[in-house]
Amino acid sequence: MSVLDATDPLGFDELLSEEDRAVRDTVRAWCRERVLPHIAGWYEAGELPGVRELARELGAIGALGMHLEGYGCAGASAVQYGLACLELEAADSGLRSLVSVQGSLAMYAVHRWGSEEQKRQWLPRMASGEVIGCFGLTEPDHGSDPASMRTTAKRDGPDWVLTGRKMWITNGSVAGVAVVWARTDEGVRGFVVPTTAPGFSAPDIKHKGSLRASVTSELVLDHVRLPGDAVLPGVRGLRGPLSCLSQARYGIVWGALGAARTCLETAREYSTTREQFGKPIGGFQLTQAKLADMSLELNKGLLLALHLGHRMDAGTLRPEQVSYGKLNSVREAIEIARTSRTILGANGISYEYPVMRHANNLESVLTYEGTPEMHQLVIGKLLTGQDAFR
Ligand code: FAD
Repeated sequence: MSVLDATDPLGFDELLSEEDRAVRDTVRAWCRERVLPHIAGWYEAGELPGVRELARELGAIGALGMHLEGYGCAGASAVQYGLACLELEAADSGLRSLVSVQGSLAMYAVHRWGSEEQKRQWLPRMASGEVIGCFGLTEPDHGSDPASMRTTAKRDGPDWVLTGRKMWITNGSVAGVAVVWARTDEGVRGFVVPTTAPGFSAPDIKHKGSLRASVTSELVLDHVRLPGDAVLPGVRGLRGPLSCLSQARYGIVWGALGAARTCLETAREYSTTREQFGKPIGGFQLTQAKLADMSLELNKGLLLALHLGHRMDAGTLRPEQVSYGKLNSVREAIEIARTSRTILGANGISYEYPVMRHANNLESVLTYEGTPEMHQLVIGKLLTGQDAFR
């Protein structure tokens, strides 16, 4: 019998097609060349320099709006999109966030709910990375409960006028287009807002202790006047933004496991070379117990992600099932990051190693796209039939 691969003990790789592996390898190679040599420095500096160039390169490898069909999008499978998210987040959650917001939030909103004209106007340039998109749902006073949003869009003759503030918006200040959700007389509606529109501004949020290599901004909408056809015609109500969130959460199911993989691999390698009490720390049972538990959770998570990916490709994936995946992947990834950090001892807190960066990033990933509590409530409602959100 052959020796098992410690990095793939359950034979996950064998469950992928040749095409799946090719997509994964392309994204992995891009990250290795373009991100890994620089990411620790970017993170420490709290910036993502050359983000526009990075976006174009991601467009060139087909990673933007990857699972969407037509309009210059790659039309990849959900599994392939998931694998791309995993590889990007194995490098840094900030990179994966850039891609998730672009493809699963901004582009998906236009692709699913936009007019033919909106799709033609925005999607090809977003798929190529020429235009970066952002997605404004969260407000300073309304995060988990977007139904209470205060941003409004009012009719003024043939136009719409948007007023309000959005908070914690990924890609905000580098975006050429913002998909903004606002309250109207007809319920919540989505608007495609060119960021050059007078009254629109996007000041960056500073002093972040997480996702530091990612642009996070506030969106200020000061009587932004838009033509009547700026509204997404296909949807009214929270169903619109929630459908986009479901897509992005699906990517996170995979992505968070990428961050976990990097942490576990770093800890495993470290445990074989770091010696205390006369032998490698990986030779102590307590260290092995940590590594075994982390490997178990990572690989269980991958199998769940693949299962959800197959359901998405079959068109049978339910938002509640995405909640199982998001809750599990991020919760376990954070645990893996923290445990890996303990194996690295004091080196674990140094940015010379990637573990602390991933651990910090995962705090944001835990909170955005539905906090663990929101996903527990979704699952709790499924299990009991009782709505416990309020
Ligand atoms: P709150 O909703 O105030 O929640 C605070 C705590 O209370 C949480 O633990 C929550 O689970 C808990 N809580 C709330 N209600 C209940 C309840 N009913 N029962 C039990 N517990 C409850 N948003 C966007 O729209 N676009 C983006 O691009 C975007 N990018 C982001 C990037 C980063 C780096 C971060 C950190 C956030 C981003 N967000 C974005 C915002 C994110 O989606 C919100 O932070 C998230 O929805 C939580 O909202 P909140 O921070 O207001 O927390």
